[in-house]
Amino acid sequence: MTDQPTRTVTRSEDEWRRELTPEEFAVLRRAGTERPYTGEYWDTHTTGVYQCRACGAELFRSDAKFDSHCGWPSFFAPLAEERVRYIRDATLGMERIEVRCAACDSHLGHVFEGEGYDTPTDLRYCINSISMRLVPDDTTVDGDAGSAPAAP
Ligand SMILES: [Zn+2]
Repeated sequence: MTDQPTRTVTRSEDEWRRELTPEEFAVLRRAGTERPYTGEYWDTHTTGVYQCRACGAELFRSDAKFDSHCGWPSFFAPLAEERVRYIRDATLGMERIEVRCAACDSHLGHVFEGEGYDTPTDLRYCINSISMRLVPDDTTVDGDAGSAPAAP
């Protein structure tokens, strides 16, 4: 076992409740699960970085996202191993590994191993869309659209 990363963002549950929407709070702070195929990012292929919706820590990159057809955004690896922490979760009568944001300890989803997906790690980080915010790489605005022609 390696040392667990240190938590850097600490807020009270009341503060989280004020900052997050009820839906975000239910997943991030109460380890809820959004319904499959309903989240914002399950079928997203945009290039960019997925941040923690609670604290903004960068968690996953789009180049590690793959089509698992499970109804949730799926990644084969986090952006960096120290960005997430793992907790054994024995609820629902299953042994699962919960994935949390290392910075603020918010619930992200679960990681599953050995499912046979054609990915470099054989891991599936099954993450709730509502736990993340996608920041596309190309955020520059197209300046040509409304610009006036140059004066002679
Ligand atoms: Zn976080």
